[in-house]
Amino acid sequence: MSRVYNFSAGPSMLPEEVLQKAAGQMLDYEGSGQSVTEMSHRSKVFEKIIRDAEALMREIMDIPGNYKVLFLQGGASAQFAAIPLNFMNGSGKADFIITGQWANKAYQEAQKYGEARIVASSKDKTFSYIPKTKREDFDPEADYVYICLNNTIYGTVYHELPDTDDIPLIADISSCILSEPLDVTKFGMVFAGAQKNVAPSGLTICIIREDLLGRARDITPTMLNYQIMAENESLYNTPPCYPIYICMLVLERIKRLGGLGAMKEYNGKKAALLYDFLDSSKMFKGTVVKEDRSLMNIPFVTGDDDLDAKFVKAVTAAGFVNLKGHRSVGGMRASVYNAMPIEGVEKLVAFMKEFEAENA
Ligand SMILES: *Cc1c(COP(=O)(O)O)cnc(C)c1O
Repeated sequence: MSRVYNFSAGPSMLPEEVLQKAAGQMLDYEGSGQSVTEMSHRSKVFEKIIRDAEALMREIMDIPGNYKVLFLQGGASAQFAAIPLNFMNGSGKADFIITGQWANKAYQEAQKYGEARIVASSKDKTFSYIPKTKREDFDPEADYVYICLNNTIYGTVYHELPDTDDIPLIADISSCILSEPLDVTKFGMVFAGAQKNVAPSGLTICIIREDLLGRARDITPTMLNYQIMAENESLYNTPPCYPIYICMLVLERIKRLGGLGAMKEYNGKKAALLYDFLDSSKMFKGTVVKEDRSLMNIPFVTGDDDLDAKFVKAVTAAGFVNLKGHRSVGGMRASVYNAMPIEGVEKLVAFMKEFEAENA
């Protein structure tokens, strides 16, 4: 067996020990005589899995008791509609900061339901930075302010949150959830598609402050109504059982490794290896301003499309896959989520050094 180093932006690598544990439990989960993929979501065995996953999530992310933790479907993209349907129902207005395609998609979806307004954008420089905002920039009447915390495509992250005063802040954390500590109390809601850092695709995690529930529009589809999902403890209908189980295993591993502080330290080391090389290289350079660099997604270019293509071909052949950048940025992008081992980044940097020497 030979496994590649998968630098994909998502779906992405899962920790090998988690895959091995799941493989060992595939035919018979803890003496139940069946796989988690086969069992009733109303069974005692599965009930324990989903409750353990939630308890671990609460412990590891330090989520206060007045927040609901929901395990839903539809991906992060379904929440782009669910968020306005559930919350854009006071003034019918919401403020958006556009830091890339995902924020923009959420903004476009919200426009269908109310007065979505762009407060700031970094489109002028291909989303290579996080725009600065002041408290006065936001409409005090807005039902919420929306941001995408880590911008998967462009490789930027908010190191400092916008000051929205008492307007609830809602953040898409799909590509940074569980990568470092996050103060959940600063948000009205955070949410994430699982396939970057948590579990296989099919699971969406929504963490919502309780007092924001109960504001949904009458037309809100039941499956997008957070209050109904919360009342039914994520078991209104069949949840994505297997991804929830893998989520539990991933959380168990994070706990064993020392929690999100330890993840941050490990992720910081990995990112620093690549950023330090990019800053010293004459051939490769990062595309993001230094102060807004993401720990998870690291785009870079040579400045020459042909050389980029040659690099992508060579690096893929060497067993480092999915390094081609998003079509809107070009070049390359290394996504180094929690499950990417540091050896993967060390070997990638060694390969890049060699490529640079050979192609100088
Ligand atoms: C991947 C990603 C999405 C899309 O997630 P789906 O689960 O495929 O809908 C949305 N936002 C961000 C920040 C992402 O990285």
